[in-house]
Amino acid sequence: MEIIKREAKSIYTRSKLPGIKYTINQYVGCGHRCVYCYARYMSRWKEYGHWGTWIEVKTNAPELAKQRVKGEVSMSSVSDPYQPVEKEIMLTRKILENMNKDTKLSVLTKSDLVLRDIDILKKFKNVSVGLTVNCFPEKVRKILEPHAPSNERRIEALKKLNKEGIKTFCFISPVIPELTEARKVLRETKGIVNYYLIEVLNTRLGGENLKKILKDRFPESYEYLRDKEKMRKFVELLKHYVEEKEVPLAAFVSHRRENYYKE
Ligand code: SF4
Repeated sequence: MEIIKREAKSIYTRSKLPGIKYTINQYVGCGHRCVYCYARYMSRWKEYGHWGTWIEVKTNAPELAKQRVKGEVSMSSVSDPYQPVEKEIMLTRKILENMNKDTKLSVLTKSDLVLRDIDILKKFKNVSVGLTVNCFPEKVRKILEPHAPSNERRIEALKKLNKEGIKTFCFISPVIPELTEARKVLRETKGIVNYYLIEVLNTRLGGENLKKILKDRFPESYEYLRDKEKMRKFVELLKHYVEEKEVPLAAFVSHRRENYYKE
């Protein structure tokens, strides 16, 4: 993994995400190397090589984080603030140390490394920490999210955060028919998260490589991408289940029109 250091002009980027005023992406690129990563579109504007082979580090991000902003800040939208390189660089930790603790902050990661920073997170007046959990069977996770911690570790992290009194959320994503065990996620995180975000796979942003992997390795899932009606029913059933169970839901993003494609 090539580490590219550079200075940024600003670290708070205006966001179009619902309810979010700013996003912070102290890293561009991500060592978790999920094959469906939507953030890979960032590499279109970079000349460093293939997505997943480099990470851009905004070295002055901690200094820039001192700026005061109003409105909810989300960390991060196109990278993971607790990807492997963070263990050594501690950029996220330094940013959190420097941020105004009155800032409404939400942090999203796939890594239990976030537990390292519980002490600083607790200093924020309004913070929520989310873990992406999809309960892929381990052999599937090793193909789709090769360098991310196991789902068990992510659930364990949610438990610890909850125990520490930190507001938590669970991002069930990407929901891939036949692979994502959304019902299992809901069962195993019940009572330890305050709210859920659910997102069905966006095949367009997931890229051609993902489609090929699904086609070759998981044809039963790939079938849903080809069959619009099958996918529609799948999404409806999941929605119905979530409503029936009265899951505290903050968002359900289906990307329904994009969940299939023509060959
Ligand atoms: S953890 Fe998130 S940002 Fe990192 S590779 Fe996976 S999907 Fe992309």
